[in-house]
Amino acid sequence: MQNQPKASHFIDGAYMEDTTGEVFDVIYPATGEVIAKLHAATPAIIDKALDAARRAQKDWAAMTGTERGRVLRRAADIMRERNHDLSVLETYDTGKPYQETSVADATSGADALEYFGGLAGSLTGEHIQLGEDFVYTRREPLGVCVGIGAWNYPTQIACWKGAPALACGNAMVFKPSETTPLCALKVAEILIEAGAPAGVYNVVQGLGAVGAALVSDQRVDKVSLTGSVPTGRKVYAAAAEGMRHVTMELGGKSPLVIFDDADLENAVSGAILGNFYSTGQVCSNGTRVFVQKGIKEAFLLRLAERLAGVVMGDPQDPAVNFGPMVSGRQRDIVEGYIAKGLDEGARLVYGGKRVDRDGFYLEPTVFADVTDDMTIAREEIFGPVLSVLDFDTEEEVLARANDTEFGLAAGVFTADLTRAHRVVAGFEAGTCYINTYNLAPVEAPFGGMKQSGVGRENSKAAIEHYSQIKGVYVAMGDVEAPF
Ligand code: NDP
Repeated sequence: MQNQPKASHFIDGAYMEDTTGEVFDVIYPATGEVIAKLHAATPAIIDKALDAARRAQKDWAAMTGTERGRVLRRAADIMRERNHDLSVLETYDTGKPYQETSVADATSGADALEYFGGLAGSLTGEHIQLGEDFVYTRREPLGVCVGIGAWNYPTQIACWKGAPALACGNAMVFKPSETTPLCALKVAEILIEAGAPAGVYNVVQGLGAVGAALVSDQRVDKVSLTGSVPTGRKVYAAAAEGMRHVTMELGGKSPLVIFDDADLENAVSGAILGNFYSTGQVCSNGTRVFVQKGIKEAFLLRLAERLAGVVMGDPQDPAVNFGPMVSGRQRDIVEGYIAKGLDEGARLVYGGKRVDRDGFYLEPTVFADVTDDMTIAREEIFGPVLSVLDFDTEEEVLARANDTEFGLAAGVFTADLTRAHRVVAGFEAGTCYINTYNLAPVEAPFGGMKQSGVGRENSKAAIEHYSQIKGVYVAMGDVEAPF
């Protein structure tokens, strides 16, 4: 494989190896071949990364926002120039088709670097007049931020966390998922090339234990995790011990509600985007597709027709639009859910089987006649499994849509815009869509309610989660005291 990162970790401005760390394989999901061997971070590596970040953060924060922003914007330009190579690497890391990675990963990372680079120079406190006296606020960085990533969007997650953190004057130590460890190293390399001081953005590899060591370290001021709800609970609890700030971007079981007046073609497109993009491995997927009874058969028919357009194959081939699952383990988990769906009486209307080729391929799968109590309607599957549930009325569907512990995303398709806004106002979810699904532009806040998380990524809202306010009272007269 070309364009390989040169070592396991990136610390203090350079690649670094410690061969005493446990070896783990990086597997290309499209073939099952081992494409790299990395070492998990030892305590010595973790120390080096945190020390470098702590040291570098002070100087980085002392620069003006415009200077910091310039570095981030340069990094965005480099990422765009190298989009092809970065997309090829993302495809090796995750198995997602190049047709997707070339428009959704390095490009999304570059958007984050550009957007937060642009904001950096305008981050300010405020002035509050109190008669003669006044208060001003200073927007200050938090210090050292730890980012921990899931395996589905390794470049994007590394940038969505790194860009706002760095814009606000923090330093970052990022730990990618051990399933997809390569791309974040390239982000670190590019940031240094763009002029970031050594130590401002570091990457260390490892499994959950390395993440856990980072989260509980005294040198750390903030933890931002993208991962599952069970991991989120552990990381949040560990961060609470040290009263650290957190952002939690966790899982979901999001509803996509399709009324019978919806544009059928658009609704089917939304359901495809919300279930099969990245082979269904997207946290915000609308996996509970509630279809009003009047258009259910038409919807299922058109969905099946559109699924004939799936092109599986070598994900590096730009004509391929459906790749393998990220790992054999993840495919086994999803197959387990498909078996449960069948056992519990859901009607399989499409797919459901492994594909007879190397790699971790699974057919896009559609169940109909799914009911609210079925396991496939309650638990996050994180694979290409779409469940269609029937409904009659708006009131009924809203109650059922919200009847979940999760609250990441929700969508509605209808021609009645008054109803669309009413339904969206009723959704208990942080990221909502009307007549589209799963878009995540950097300008818009992204994140979950309920068990799906804490805080928001992207948009100006992210600034609140990577900076803190200091209030300064300034007296213009004498000090009055009781004695
Ligand atoms: P996991 O929760 O298994 O892991 C997430 C990350 O946390 C990994 O890097 C993992 O390391 C690390 N980790 C595991 N245990 C600990 C611990 N005790 N302390 C610190 N770090 C730890 O998630 P997956 O990687 O399997 O990703 C899938 C999940 O992520 C899904 O639930 C999905 O919904 C969610 N997700 C949420 C998104 C959002 O923005 N809301 C976006 C994308 C995914 P390692 O795996 O290397 O052992």
